[in-house]
Amino acid sequence: MTDQIKYVLGEKDIPRTWYNLAADLPGGAPMLHPGTGAEITVDDLLGIMPETLARQELSREAEIEIPEPVRQIYAQFRPAPLFRARRLERALGTPARIYYKYEGGSPAGSHKPNTAIAQAYYNKQAGVTRLATETGAGQWGSSLALAGALFEMDVSVFMVKVSYHQKPYRRMLMATYGARCVPSPSTETAAGRAILAEDPDCPGSLGIATSEALEVAGGNSDVNYAGGSVLNHVLLHQSVIGQEAIAQFALADDYPDIVIGATGGGSNFGGLAFPFLGAQLRGGSTVRVIAAEPSSCPTMTQGTLSYDFGDTAGLTPLIKMHTLGHSFVPPPVHAGGLRYHGMAPLVSEALDRDLIEATAVKQLSCFASGITFARAEGIVPAPESTHAIDVAIREALRCRDEGVARTILFGLSGHGHFDLGAYEAYLSGSLRDEEFDPAALESSLAKLPGFVSV
Ligand SMILES: *Cc1c(COP(=O)(O)O)cnc(C)c1O
Repeated sequence: MTDQIKYVLGEKDIPRTWYNLAADLPGGAPMLHPGTGAEITVDDLLGIMPETLARQELSREAEIEIPEPVRQIYAQFRPAPLFRARRLERALGTPARIYYKYEGGSPAGSHKPNTAIAQAYYNKQAGVTRLATETGAGQWGSSLALAGALFEMDVSVFMVKVSYHQKPYRRMLMATYGARCVPSPSTETAAGRAILAEDPDCPGSLGIATSEALEVAGGNSDVNYAGGSVLNHVLLHQSVIGQEAIAQFALADDYPDIVIGATGGGSNFGGLAFPFLGAQLRGGSTVRVIAAEPSSCPTMTQGTLSYDFGDTAGLTPLIKMHTLGHSFVPPPVHAGGLRYHGMAPLVSEALDRDLIEATAVKQLSCFASGITFARAEGIVPAPESTHAIDVAIREALRCRDEGVARTILFGLSGHGHFDLGAYEAYLSGSLRDEEFDPAALESSLAKLPGFVSV
């Protein structure tokens, strides 16, 4: 069939292993203990996660087996479809072949259950019954709430306050799955109380909410922490996305020249792009890989590559990453899932080695592209995903102008059904481009943990 639009794999094609880019990027900077400066060990992580996940976090093995019970739950929504965006191509008048890998078909509506299910499974195996976490727009919180429901575990979610009010349906979804959702900064933790004492109107940030969740997990022996992005094991679990996409391109008898993903902490981007990069590093075709970040929270294009904390209070190990500084509070843009001060160490490492490029895109342009996409393809994208769409459309128009037919793949990380308020704001003309404040960056970078010799 020449005008095929959907490339579907069967249940047996769900990957049996996760792919770990660290195996093909030797020499990456280790995580460090903030007290001693020594390399983090499995033991250091056991206070907040089970040994299986701690080992995956530090692993340099290329392939790690996916437990069968996890694959069985994946089977409800995986393999996720790969679509050819033929109507979008026509609307743009481009000779480019545009494909998107759609992760919005999971019960929570994004890629995040790929790791939520795995993390809940390993914690349950280890006898842990309670999980604490943070969430931005609520995508991660609702994904962990889903996993908690499936494995009968208690889930507490600290949700960035501005999103808690902007996106009530996500917290209602968490409640429906049986999780508890608290607006952050909250008075439930020392970290939250310290922030509120300084700024009672603080809109919150992922860094602050992470401190609250870590404090609860660290202070209670029966509670573990589950992270939605940034961590190596999270990117590992997301590698099912790119592995499936490679198999689907074989069905399409095509291969991407360009791979694009939206980046908050880097997990859907890494999940999609790393299997392609791994193939390239092992002698396969070269792909141009582009990370699309919001210009209001430009971690890779304006931040610095440095050891920093993953949270505001400084409870995490020191992580070498592109960062705006752990005290940076991004403006309240609607792509709440992209408002994080740092970038996954593996994505940062790939950027540092010029294996990928980064570009910053503006909110209004992203919504315009999201609407162009929705009207052509029918799927209303999550505001986060519109960042990848915006860059994909830009590249497709470049193909048109240059008269070159490149193959473009982007990650459609989720649907925007709970974000229609943001679309309404855009359509009614009340949405603005949030300006990035260089002075705020400067003062935040001044608070980087400078005592670490890199
Ligand atoms: C959370 C989220 C993102 C950003 O997080 P990453 O870890 O960078 O993937 C992107 N898209 C959607 C739909 C999300 O929910």
